[in-house]
Amino acid sequence: MPLSRSPLDRDEIAARLRDLLGADQVNTLESALREASVDRFKKYTAALGIFDGPFPAAIISPESTEQVAAVLAFADQNLIAVVPRTGGTATEGGLETVVPDSIVLDGSRLNRILDIDAENMMATVQCGVPLQRLEDELRVQGLTTGHSPQSKPLAQYGGLTATRSIGQFSTLYGGIEDMVVGLEAVLPDGTITRIKNVPRRAAGPDIRHIVIGNEGALCFITEVTVKLFRYRPQNLLFYGFLVDEFGDGIDALHDLFVDGYRPSVARVYSPEDARQHFADFSHGKCVVILIAEGPKPIADATGQAIEAAFAQRVHERVDPALIEAWFGRLNWDQAAIDRERAEMVADAHLGYTTEVSIDWSRVDELYRAVMHRVRTEFARAADLTMLGAHSSHSYQTGTNLYFVYDYWIRCAPRDELTEYHEPINAIIVEEALRLGGSMVHHHGIGKYRTRWTEQEHGSGFELLRRLKDAMDPNGIMNPGTIFPLEK
Ligand SMILES: Cc1cc2nc3c(=O)[nH]c(=O)nc-3n(C[C@H](O)[C@H](O)[C@H](O)COP(=O)(O)OP(=O)(O)OC[C@H]3O[C@@H](n4cnc5c(N)ncnc54)[C@H](O)[C@@H]3O)c2cc1C
Repeated sequence: MPLSRSPLDRDEIAARLRDLLGADQVNTLESALREASVDRFKKYTAALGIFDGPFPAAIISPESTEQVAAVLAFADQNLIAVVPRTGGTATEGGLETVVPDSIVLDGSRLNRILDIDAENMMATVQCGVPLQRLEDELRVQGLTTGHSPQSKPLAQYGGLTATRSIGQFSTLYGGIEDMVVGLEAVLPDGTITRIKNVPRRAAGPDIRHIVIGNEGALCFITEVTVKLFRYRPQNLLFYGFLVDEFGDGIDALHDLFVDGYRPSVARVYSPEDARQHFADFSHGKCVVILIAEGPKPIADATGQAIEAAFAQRVHERVDPALIEAWFGRLNWDQAAIDRERAEMVADAHLGYTTEVSIDWSRVDELYRAVMHRVRTEFARAADLTMLGAHSSHSYQTGTNLYFVYDYWIRCAPRDELTEYHEPINAIIVEEALRLGGSMVHHHGIGKYRTRWTEQEHGSGFELLRRLKDAMDPNGIMNPGTIFPLEK
């Protein structure tokens, strides 16, 4: 969709928004605008202070749904591109401001927990509530959202919903799409729309799914209601096993899932990936991690099924205390991000990931195909310090593969993306699509997988295209995200 440029210049945009909301809600500080022009897809150049723009005209911090509506209506009338933002942990370029003089619409001041309803088992939050804050508050009451992405300390509900995020306990609780009961969003022309909270309905298509996963390219999410579950840490059972082949671990997961068991965590690490997480005990093998939870009889039965599945397979056991300890260190807070940034700068070395999904029957083939192609076709393979994968979210019909790759940067910093990240990412995406899988399991399309959006959806793409045309006729919402940017 071509975007007509705004008749207003960046100073006029900022001035009009100050009139609309007040000066303290419009940030035009140059350093903030530079930082806001990228996300973690460009984490290396950002860490080095390299920002090539375009830069947004302003970062706007609304404090009510009505203010979000007023800003969007203004942007729509004046053809100003809008990049929604909450926690800022996006990894795929979704926050990049690729249109000059965009505005970043930051929902993080909409940060109230509006309701915790322990009878009907749901909580309603504004889009700027960090998941960690809601989870901390719920656990005091013996409840949990069941949602636990590694970015839990930082990610907020707007972004979590907009990206179709998924957490470590997904095999029991599902992804965010299984958790959202209802929500409120604002359309680009300023219309406020609310999808009410009901246990289920058959009143036409499920319109929640137009909003969940829209990556800020269709509307702005202001409130979300999610399901709650009982929190029972006393029943958790941790398991760790070493197996020789990646496919052996995947087979074990397949059998457990197809037999109807739902451990909350089910992961298989390739030997390379295992080495960086479990150097003390992986000994060059694949590591399988499982956690059973729930009411005690269910957790115990799941545990027995896990024991039975491995009794039939060649394996070595890992001390469950090591798995429990590792789990406690898994999440990323701001200190971890700062540490990574300092190391990247000091060492010119970094790691990225690409996550895809695939049917059970082709998991091992996809793993092997990617490993082979990257090792033999990637021009800078000699600079790789790690290439591996793990499966961390499983379903009745298949699983995800999360490819992880670390490398020395032996080129000009600005060329890091085109020399390293993009070619490896492309191989993984191409192989997933070739084998009938999805090119993106949970990080969103962002701005760097858009060239495959049509191929991903096939004839279904027409539905997506018409949604965009109908909901955002002026193309102001996060241009270049999900849908390729037309020059
Ligand atoms: C260290 C680390 C670990 C991670 N681990 C996981 C993981 O385990 N699982 C997982 O799923 N993801 C993970 N991610 C990715 C990221 O945390 C998720 O995509 C998360 O959902 C983003 O939330 P956020 O609030 O930071 O959103 P942001 O980064 O602010 O935005 C993400 C996207 O959503 C859009 N958006 C933001 N707010 C709104 C809104 N209110 N309305 C409409 N659109 C909006 C943005 O335009 C952007 O496209 C990880 C990221 C990091 C950095």
